[in-house]
Amino acid sequence: MTDYTDNSPLIHDILKKYWGYDAFRPAQEEIILSVLQGNDTLGLLPTGGGKSLTFQIPAMALDGITVVVTPLISLMKDQVDNLLARGIRAVCLHSGLSRSEHKLGVDRCRLGKAKLLYLSPEKLQSERFLETLHDMKISLIVVDEAHCISQWGYDFRPSYLKIASLRARFPKVPVLALTASATPEVVDDIMRRLEFRSRNVFSRSFSRPNISYIVRNDYDKERQLVNILSRTFGSAIVYVRSRKRTREIADMLASKGISADYYHAGLQAQEKAEKQEKWKHEETR
Ligand code: ADP
Repeated sequence: MTDYTDNSPLIHDILKKYWGYDAFRPAQEEIILSVLQGNDTLGLLPTGGGKSLTFQIPAMALDGITVVVTPLISLMKDQVDNLLARGIRAVCLHSGLSRSEHKLGVDRCRLGKAKLLYLSPEKLQSERFLETLHDMKISLIVVDEAHCISQWGYDFRPSYLKIASLRARFPKVPVLALTASATPEVVDDIMRRLEFRSRNVFSRSFSRPNISYIVRNDYDKERQLVNILSRTFGSAIVYVRSRKRTREIADMLASKGISADYYHAGLQAQEKAEKQEKWKHEETR
């Protein structure tokens, strides 16, 4: 068996060269080294834990192309733009593209002009499309939001079951499955459905030592809220059940001299971005 740490200098170089980071976050390096060893790997990282790098770095280290199956088209475009800005060639293919855009993307991958190919799971429904994948040199298959493959998961997507056929077509190519949310049952189900050659899970602790959790039973919640905010420092988030309540609470806090704003899914993108920026920069507490 090859030494697990062999590739460590190489992946640190890639991390620094393309992302400018000096160190890996917990579990990232273990996942990447496992993948580079050719092992089927399941990575369990909390949201914001840095899942993307665990396949983008192997994609840069390996010959050929890394195929990433991911369910959200908007995130796909976002990632591709992000990679292009770093000088990494990436393509995404989904049902929203025109025929010529699709062909252009496929040609780039065939000609070895892309390191990453992002696919929506629906693309795998087409046998004809699956055939075209054989013209590419696929080095790694990534299944993002891998809990979607499990009927026990909270977000099961039937189209994810087709990923297994990708496996059958490319039996020698290792699979990296990633998720932020998986019960032990779902973890086992993911590995079974993706036909892992052996069990191989890396996870990072989901605990956040800087966050405490206290439940209070109080009839006068607004008074309690103002009370807590008056005795603590730093930014805060108040979750409520309705859009209307977000406005009412923000107004109530403002009337008590606590800078507050409201945020919900019904706002325009621009407005959301402004509110978020203000909160992040502590202009709004
Ligand atoms: P996830 O998909 O797990 O929610 P992302 O892959 O989007 O998380 O990463 C979240 C953020 O953390 C991104 O801005 C990413 O650039 C950053 N990040 C990831 N790995 C590292 C690292 N080793 N050092 C510093 N920042 C990192």
